[in-house]
Amino acid sequence: MKKEDEATKMVSRRSVLKGAAALGAIASMGGFALNMAAPGTVEAAEKKLPKKWDETWDVVVVGSGFAGLAAAAEAAGAGAKTVILEKMPIYGGNSIINGGGYAAWDSKLQLRQKLNLGEDSVKAHINDTLKGGDYYNIPELVEVLANESPAALNWMIDEGGLKLRNVVNRGGGHYSYRCYFSETMWGKDYTEALKRIAEKRGVKMALNSEVTWIWRKDADPKSPVLGLEVKRGRRTLNIKANKGLVLASGGFSRDIKMRMEQYPKLNEVFDSTNHKGATGEMIRYAQAVGADAMHLNFIQLYPFADPKTGTLDTPAVFPFSGPGRGAIYVSKQGKRFVSELERRDVCAFAQTNMGADAKPTYTIFNAAMVPLMGYKQDEVDAGLKKGRFTQADSIAELAKKIGLPEAALVETVNKHNQYLKDGKDPDFNKPITKAMLPLDKGPFFAVAQWPAVHHTMGGLRINKNAQVVDIFGKVIPKFYCAGEAAGGVHGSNRLGTNATADCVVFGRVAGRSAVNA
Ligand SMILES: Cc1cc2nc3c(=O)[nH]c(=O)nc-3n(C[C@H](O)[C@H](O)[C@H](O)COP(=O)(O)OP(=O)(O)OC[C@H]3O[C@@H](n4cnc5c(N)ncnc54)[C@H](O)[C@@H]3O)c2cc1C
Repeated sequence: MKKEDEATKMVSRRSVLKGAAALGAIASMGGFALNMAAPGTVEAAEKKLPKKWDETWDVVVVGSGFAGLAAAAEAAGAGAKTVILEKMPIYGGNSIINGGGYAAWDSKLQLRQKLNLGEDSVKAHINDTLKGGDYYNIPELVEVLANESPAALNWMIDEGGLKLRNVVNRGGGHYSYRCYFSETMWGKDYTEALKRIAEKRGVKMALNSEVTWIWRKDADPKSPVLGLEVKRGRRTLNIKANKGLVLASGGFSRDIKMRMEQYPKLNEVFDSTNHKGATGEMIRYAQAVGADAMHLNFIQLYPFADPKTGTLDTPAVFPFSGPGRGAIYVSKQGKRFVSELERRDVCAFAQTNMGADAKPTYTIFNAAMVPLMGYKQDEVDAGLKKGRFTQADSIAELAKKIGLPEAALVETVNKHNQYLKDGKDPDFNKPITKAMLPLDKGPFFAVAQWPAVHHTMGGLRINKNAQVVDIFGKVIPKFYCAGEAAGGVHGSNRLGTNATADCVVFGRVAGRSAVNA
């Protein structure tokens, strides 16, 4: 089957025809569209509003990750005829390959309480997120994230059949144990749950449908966005959004040109953990029709990606989940180089600042930590089989196997074990907790790691209703944005597991706003 046919199949014929029947009112619109292409260029002269629409929907969502699925589910739940447009041949974007972590200070499962992992509160989640983002975050957006995150998790459990592991971790920058993990530790658990909710509510999804422009007549604050130009196979369609357009097109970590414009250091030498569709054209189109963007130069490296490929596979999540249980990070010299509970940017730059020769560094953990981090033996076995984990009965043997100086690694581990006993880390001031185990009993494991471009904190400026704001601070009518395509939630640095929550929470907000505004 040709790509084009597949895409057409995804959008039910009936719904498109129904949409087409509602075109009368706008069929003769025409005229010029707002177009900020360089004056005098062919593109600037030619960007005309479509004379007719090929499809009409109440709500059109761009992107089929967490944010798009959640937005579409909520819009359809409120009665709106809703379509998701996705440029790739498969749905899910970065969301479907995500590591399964979700930050919530509470949930109906009450896992933190049951596992006796201390206190947490909405205020603590807000404060950690603001501090983790160096207070560049927009506080009212952070409040929405933290307030709504438990309810969004419960929603996916109750209505989408989401299953979680019996674990709550403490990732860098979170000062409480609030990182939940899904059953398989893959984002797919959440995307499937959201897709189930969306499908039950009648949402249609069109794959292989690349948005190539946003239609808006002019920049008058009262002028709404009208719809989209979409490439589907060899056809170019114009799709009208009657009630709202939700941009949930994700981040731009794979857009080397765009990321270098914002942060020249992040050139092609850096690998990325992202899917290949993580490019920033939708943000540019939105800017071209008057949307404000913010924080585009705040780009996060995942400090623990596979050094050979840049991927974030299951072994690459152990270094994130391990520190709350006593895992340590060491350099090629067998020395710790950072507090393992530090934020991602600090951990990443502690590595890259040692120079390219320092690649890779390692996380060291032992078997006793594995179930406490929420992992199963078969995941360790799979990591060993793949060559990502190295196992040994003693620290000296482990050092030898991975080519580190034995005496140095033994000394580092012994010192750290003593720090856990003393409750103090004089080297890096890591906050020691009772949940951390010493590395005093094998088998011991090592996993190699190196930073890769991971998350773009910036995006379109939105308000707490997920409405897109223009460069004068005015809401652009009928225009909404959620997830990684939006800026302001995470400030300069996102805390691990906050993105899943951000995308689902703001996706839901955007979907509801698109119908109710
Ligand atoms: C490997 C990996 C692991 C991660 N693990 C975690 C984790 O455990 N916890 C956590 O909180 N965060 C994690 N993150 C971050 C988090 O997964 C992302 O921030 C999140 O998935 C973004 O969701 P989204 O819905 O905004 O965008 P996406 O899921 O990326 O979806 C956007 C979609 O829009 C589509 N699109 C883009 N442009 C167009 C266009 N022009 N036309 C049509 N479609 C378009 C894309 O193809 C894509 O499918 C991880 C990220 C990666 C890459």
